[in-house]
Amino acid sequence: METTKFCQACGEGLIATAAVCPKCGTMTGVANRPATSGTNTLSTLAIVFSIVSVLFLPILFGPIALILGIIAAVRKEPRGTLALILSIVCPIMGFIFGFVFAAMMYGL
Ligand SMILES: [Zn+2]
Repeated sequence: METTKFCQACGEGLIATAAVCPKCGTMTGVANRPATSGTNTLSTLAIVFSIVSVLFLPILFGPIALILGIIAAVRKEPRGTLALILSIVCPIMGFIFGFVFAAMMYGL
């Protein structure tokens, strides 16, 4: 038998097209792979914009990061939840840093 991958649950060798492990019955992930994207494209963009929003223009980059983070989370990207959390927290930090910076600049 040609075994090109292994069951994540029991380690049994599986043929590449097997959707279910014949030994333990665990789904191998082949069947649902086309439906769910395993990529982090939107999550990565959301995280990048989140980090940018801490340093520059949180009022501009914050909403962009948040929208990307929400879409990433809705699409259940692997890093979607992390991206969503960062896209909420980072712009808030950006605003705080902005206020602190302005306070120092103008001696408030
Ligand atoms: Zn198995």
